[in-house]
Amino acid sequence: MGDLVPEKSHKFQFDKSTRELAERLIKNYLSAHIGNITLAVSLMLVVAIATGVQVKMLEPAINEVLGKGNRDLAMVLPVLFFAISVVKGFASYGQTILMQKTGLRVVVALQNQMFHRIVDADLAFIYKGATGKLISRFTIDLLFLRDAVTKAFTGIGRDLIKVLVLVAVMIHTNWQLALMVIFVFPASIWPIVYIGKRMRSIADQTQQRLGGITSFLDEVFKGMRQVKADGMEAFERRRAAEEFETVFALHYKAGKTRSRTYPIMEIMIGIAGSGILGYAGYRVIAGDNNIVMDINAGQFVTFFLAMVVAYQPVRGLANLNASLQQGMAAAERVFSMIDYKPKIVSRPDAIALEVKKGEVCFKNISFAYEEGKQALSSINLLAPSGQTVALVGPSGAGKSTILNLIPRFYDADHGQINIDGVNVCDATLDSLRAQISLVSQEVILFNDTVRANIAYGCPGAKESEIIEAAKAAAAHEFISELADGYNTEVGERGVKLSGGQRQRISIARAMLRNTPILLLDEATSALDSASERKVQQALGRLIDGRTTLVIAHRLSTVTNADLIYVLNEGRIVEQGTHSSLLAEDGLYAQLCRIQFEDNTALGGDRATSQQKTSTSANKA
Ligand code: ATP
Repeated sequence: MGDLVPEKSHKFQFDKSTRELAERLIKNYLSAHIGNITLAVSLMLVVAIATGVQVKMLEPAINEVLGKGNRDLAMVLPVLFFAISVVKGFASYGQTILMQKTGLRVVVALQNQMFHRIVDADLAFIYKGATGKLISRFTIDLLFLRDAVTKAFTGIGRDLIKVLVLVAVMIHTNWQLALMVIFVFPASIWPIVYIGKRMRSIADQTQQRLGGITSFLDEVFKGMRQVKADGMEAFERRRAAEEFETVFALHYKAGKTRSRTYPIMEIMIGIAGSGILGYAGYRVIAGDNNIVMDINAGQFVTFFLAMVVAYQPVRGLANLNASLQQGMAAAERVFSMIDYKPKIVSRPDAIALEVKKGEVCFKNISFAYEEGKQALSSINLLAPSGQTVALVGPSGAGKSTILNLIPRFYDADHGQINIDGVNVCDATLDSLRAQISLVSQEVILFNDTVRANIAYGCPGAKESEIIEAAKAAAAHEFISELADGYNTEVGERGVKLSGGQRQRISIARAMLRNTPILLLDEATSALDSASERKVQQALGRLIDGRTTLVIAHRLSTVTNADLIYVLNEGRIVEQGTHSSLLAEDGLYAQLCRIQFEDNTALGGDRATSQQKTSTSANKA
């Protein structure tokens, strides 16, 4: 009864890329679970045979027990039926959990592989893809994939075998009638193939939109403070409603397309069933009401039941193609992520960088994030060992880009960056980054304890070292006053701490790493004077003795720097000390004048208005 329908349909449907995807899944992920899969399929076989036997038992029950009053069979049949039900129940349980476990294991393997790719990926790749979209590959795409894997085996192992067994029961009961039924079902191949194709394209669109929703939610939840402050709740509600509506439409379309298998299969059953009933009725009316087509009452009921029971697995097989297509759409996206190869890697012949002096030298560096839009042009810069070099300049001048190139977050297009004479591209990434600490104005804290956040870059740090670092960063005092001290959870992105406290934790982190090179992007946000002074003192201790490149926003940092580079539109336009640059009376002097004016207006040495400075400088 239609046993070849889905087989053929998925053969038709399997274009080259689908076959490649399936082969890759089987070879790389499923083959590791061959034991569980074999056991599951064996149990499916047990379930299928048990179903066929139970259906076939109706024949003696009607003919022998009801028809002829066979007492022995009347005793045996119920016991046998019960025993088979028990076996069937446990076999179903076993095969379901084995297949679930296999599907979930495949998901975990893929999740790990994808996460490794993301962690090793170039920053450019991460920034290009919206984080929500990346996250949705780990969740939504893998759910579709798991569904396809589980259903493929259940479909082939359980449903197909069940259909085959029930067809065998039908043939055994009456082969002429069986032929009639088997003949009807191949007619449903084409609609099912068509449904599968539609499902693939709808699945593609749906998965993309779901990625968009994850991104949107991530963005709004993180920016909720701004949403509220700007009174944008109604706008966001409208945006959300549009997103949800689009996904509703796609889900609904998928549901409608998939559900077309119901009328198709019902009509097939209807044709086969009514044909058999009609023919039987015709023969009875023709005069033989006991024997119809050489079939007795017990056989007729058995045959009919086998056909009806086969409906569910046949429909399962018809749906299988749709699920497989959805799964393959997901697999394509997942594999495209797994196949991503980062450009910034350690060269095969890379050496472990050993920093003795910590001198950083840029030789004729040019770099563009995007083609044709130069972020840095011909930069020559020297940060001598143990000295502090300040980078100043208007917004967008390229200051952060200079810091980004040192630990190779990006690679320069031209030129060379040397640390103690070694090209950073000739050093292994691990050894290079182990020499550098980054303290950024955007403090990144993780949802963990204060202790774990301080020790983030030094997993093996001792308690005493963590406390020492916190003391040097002027953080020990406030940490001790927290409810659980160093065990206090800081909340997502450190929301439970103040801005100044977060900054001091990040300074403590750099203290603990104790690297010879420090990249510092000073915070622009205003802190109260007491907090500001503590951060300043902590920074002073951190900078001491290290080669520091600092994007300087505070006037005191600039004036105390050993050397100042002034950047404008990706070029170094001036360099020197504070006094020599003032004497030059160029861009630096102009920036200083604006800042002094601001500070006088603010009433203190709190150069916190870099943006204002930059805007004014740009205007100038
Ligand atoms: P600010 O003081 O405002 O932080 P900056 O001097 O640090 O500015 P950079 O962040 O280095 O400036 O930016 C230099 C140029 O590179 C700018 O024109 C900026 O638009 C561009 N840029 C920065 N980051 C990226 C990125 N990830 N992708 C594309 N362009 C970028």
